[in-house]
Formats: sequence, C-alpha cells, structure tokens
Amino acid sequence: MKKFLLPVTILILMTTVAACKHEGGNAIAGHSGSSGEFAADLDARLARLPKTAIDYDRALLDDNQKEVVAKLVEASRHINDIFLLQVSESNPALFADLEARAADSPDAAKGLELVRVMAGKWDRLAGQEPFVAPLGAGGTKPAGAGFYPSDLTREEFEAWLEEHPEDKEAFQGLFTVIRRDGDKLVAVPYSEAYKEHLEPAAAKLREAAELTKNASLKDYLEKRADAFMSDDYYDSDIAWMDLDSGLEVVIGPYEVYEDGLFGYKAAFEAYVCVVDKGESDRLSIYKDHLLNMEKNLPMPDEHKNLERGGESPIKVVQEIFTAGDGRRGVQTAAFNLPNDERVREAKGSKKVLLKNVMQAKFDSTGKPIAERVLATSQTELINFDAFFNQVPFHELTHGIGPGIIEGPDGNKVETRLLLKELYSVIEECKADTVGVWSVYYAMDNDLISDFSREQLQATYVGLLYRSMRFGIDAAHGRGAAIQWNWYRENNAIVATDDGRFEVDMEKLKEAVKSLSEELLMIEALGDYERGKALADKYGVQNDEIKGVIESLSDLPTDITPVFVGAGETM
Ligand code: ZN
Repeated sequence: MKKFLLPVTILILMTTVAACKHEGGNAIAGHSGSSGEFAADLDARLARLPKTAIDYDRALLDDNQKEVVAKLVEASRHINDIFLLQVSESNPALFADLEARAADSPDAAKGLELVRVMAGKWDRLAGQEPFVAPLGAGGTKPAGAGFYPSDLTREEFEAWLEEHPEDKEAFQGLFTVIRRDGDKLVAVPYSEAYKEHLEPAAAKLREAAELTKNASLKDYLEKRADAFMSDDYYDSDIAWMDLDSGLEVVIGPYEVYEDGLFGYKAAFEAYVCVVDKGESDRLSIYKDHLLNMEKNLPMPDEHKNLERGGESPIKVVQEIFTAGDGRRGVQTAAFNLPNDERVREAKGSKKVLLKNVMQAKFDSTGKPIAERVLATSQTELINFDAFFNQVPFHELTHGIGPGIIEGPDGNKVETRLLLKELYSVIEECKADTVGVWSVYYAMDNDLISDFSREQLQATYVGLLYRSMRFGIDAAHGRGAAIQWNWYRENNAIVATDDGRFEVDMEKLKEAVKSLSEELLMIEALGDYERGKALADKYGVQNDEIKGVIESLSDLPTDITPVFVGAGETM
C-alpha cells in the first residue's frame, strides 16, 4: 500500500508446479539466439530506466553499523531470489540461461539486463508485455504471477472456496501460495514454499542481530527471522514499529500488487536504509495531526475511523540497498507499513520516505515532465518542496480512512478483501487525492508554509504524467489516470491551444474534494461495483492521454538504481 507515485524458487512442491516449469521450459526452448527471441527494442526499453547511482552519507554510520548493513545486504539477496519465484517459477531457469549466454551474445546480455530490471521477462512499463519469447499473446504473464497455478481462473478459485469454506482463510491469506495437487487446490505456506531461501535469509538476520548494539534492532531482526520460519509476522511487525535505530530495515513479505488475480498474496522485498534524523524530526509534526485529518475527510462522520492507533512515525531515510518487490521496475519513493490491519489498529503505521531516491526521480523525470505538460505560464510554479511534502501526506493518508468496515453480512471485514483486485488502484488513488486534500488542511493550519497552493497544485498536476506513463496496469498509473480524467471532466485541467494544460486553481480544489469523497465512500462501503464503475470510466488512457505520453517518449520513465554504497558499479 505504499508506494508514492513517483513514486514490490521454489521448491516446487506439487504436481502442478510441473505445469509452471513446463511453461518456463517451453519459453526457453525457443531461445536460440536467432531473431525473434527478444523484442526488437531492448535498447529503448532499457533507456527508459537509465542506471543512476544511489548513494548515502557514509558519515551517518559507524563501523559497527556498517558491519550490520553488510549482513542485511546478504539477507536481502535471498529475498530477491524469493521475489523472482513469486513473479514466475520459470525465472530461475530463464536467468540461468541468459547468464550462461550473456558473454557471447549481446542480445542475451541486454535481455539479461532487462529481466533483472523487470524481475522477469515482462515489461512492467508496457502493460507486462513479454520481451522474451514467446512474444505477444502467447507469452502473456499469468495474472496471479507465481502465486497461483498459471492456468487458475478467478472463477475456479472462488468456486473452490464455495465448496470448501474451511479453506478460505488459508487461501486468501497473505503468506500462502496456491498449488494444484491432483484435482485439488492447496495452500502452501511461504515458510515451506520458499524454505530454501528463507533459511539462509533468517541466518543472516540472526548474524546481524548478534552484531548490532541497538536493542530494538536486535529484537526486530530476531523476531523477523523467526517469522520467516513460522509465517506469523505480527510480533516482528510490532517490533518494527518500535524500532529506534540509526538503521531502517524492512525485510519480508508486504505488498500485494504483484498478485493481479486477487491482490491477496504478499511479495517479498527488502529495504536497507540509514535514517536522516534531522529531516525526520522536521516532518514528524505532521503525524500529530492525523486525527484532525481523519475528521477533515470529505465524507459522512459515521464512516470515519477515529479509533486508530496513535503511533504513526515518519522517517526520512537514504537507501543503501533494496531487493525484490522493492527494486523491480519503477522504484519506490516512499512506503507506509506494515499492512497488517491488526498492527495498524494497535500501533498505527510507519511512513518511510526514501529521500535520495526521490531526489533522483524528481531531477530525472519529475520536473522535466511537468515542464512539458503544464501551460507555459504555470511551469515556473513547479517546486521541489511541493513535491517532497506531498509524499508524507500520501503515506499518512494510507493510514486514515476506512480500513476494517462492516461487511454485507454485518461482520467486520477488511475493505481490501471486498474490493479484491481493485483495492490497490482505489487505495493508491485515494492516497494521492486525499493526500492533496490533507496538504490543503496542513497549509490552512500553518503546518506548511514553504510553498503556495498554486505551487502545490501545479506540481501535483504536472507530475501526474509521471505515474500515467507507468501504464494502467500499475496501481499508481491507473490511479493517476483516474485523477487526470476526473479533473479534466470537471474542467479543473483545461487544454491550451499549444497542446499544454492549464490548472484552474479554484476548480481543482473542488475536484480534489469530490474525487476524494467518491474514493472514500467506495472504501467505506466496500462497494466493488462502484469501484469498478469508477476504474472503468476514468482509469483509462484516452487518445489525448496517449498523445501526451507519446510526446514524452524521449524522457526516461524512472531510474534503475545502482547501489554504490553496497558495492555495485555502474
Ligand atoms: Zn501509496
């Protein structure tokens, strides 16, 4: 649930995995180095995510902390292996094949570079289009990635649960994969499915726990190592909320974006970061106003959640190393974790802003896009502070609004489950839109004074195309399309004669309010049909949008990080 717009092996256990392996085998059997093995435009695809050095301020860490970091980086590499399996069980064979041929074949070398960036053979910036044979429809990525049998349909899954209601909890759980066992469907816990990688990852976490002199970090790492073996992440999530260390470490299964079938399954990721204490202290004042922001939501009071846990720390950090779902395709600029609603009710959630990455994104793809999209009279309003401050509000907004609601049967249920595969889109769109609504609140209450409302709105609108370029298959990209189309329909964004767009400052504020209300009510009611109607009408790229995206095609879409501080080289 986390990522701002600029902002995700096995041991195959059962018979069905054979089906997955077979599929992978077919794909690789087609490889011969001849033309047609790869999409013809690998260079162009790589150019959309240029390698960019990401480094951190070494003075922030002492020698002991640097030793701990080295262990955490090693653990993270195992996490990356798990994520690759979660994307596709054919990944290990694909990577091995390309690695074996890269030295002799420039095409294989480029293909390898791109499968590393995309964590698989599907282009995350082009609607998950395959760029390794089989190309086209024959190589379509299964919606359920590697979490489900590749031929499993939504209907079959739901029919199984109709007949086997006792399986519901395990099947919908965040930490299981679904496999076929003969005619049956079974849920396999991550601790079993990914044991080969989780055991060494846990060992590295324990070594890091031995080394660290920080008690809260030691506690978190030990509990997280235990969780890898037990699939029970609750205690370690609580320990992570209590983490008070110069290092910020996220390692485990979190986000559900990769599961395009239902959004039930959590993907493994790792972030190893150093805390920027000065910046963190400056932004921490926002979190004291969460309850007021909840009260200020444009929705009826009866749906407001005034009982949430109060702890919602904000940390500004510099990335040292990332892996898995935290590194594929478009890079995360910020996140808000944990996702476990029980932990959120008890402790709130922690927002982590990845400042060195945000800076790189703004410089390379944020400002240049906004400068082309906005009316020339408004380009001078594009402002880094307006951009940077939207991010904590996007993240804070993930922590307010409806979470656990009363379902159709009168029982408490997470709105996430009712909104199914639409949840990620609706929640990300809500975080953007209601986030801006909350920045208005902060400005009106003098919490922020370093930019104007005009700067905020121009920067916000101008940078929507950053996300829309990611395509509507990505939750953030589709959420941005919903915003753009809603604002266009309400004349809050008006086309100019020279093909640019002018923000109507007053109408935009009204449109932010009306869209916020729609999104919040979809979540408050868990109304799948209403969410689908919104996404179907507005979460689309019409000809106008496609034309603008086309005109930006020479600009990079995002960056590919090269973690200099973890020993990577350009
Ligand atoms: Zn988000």
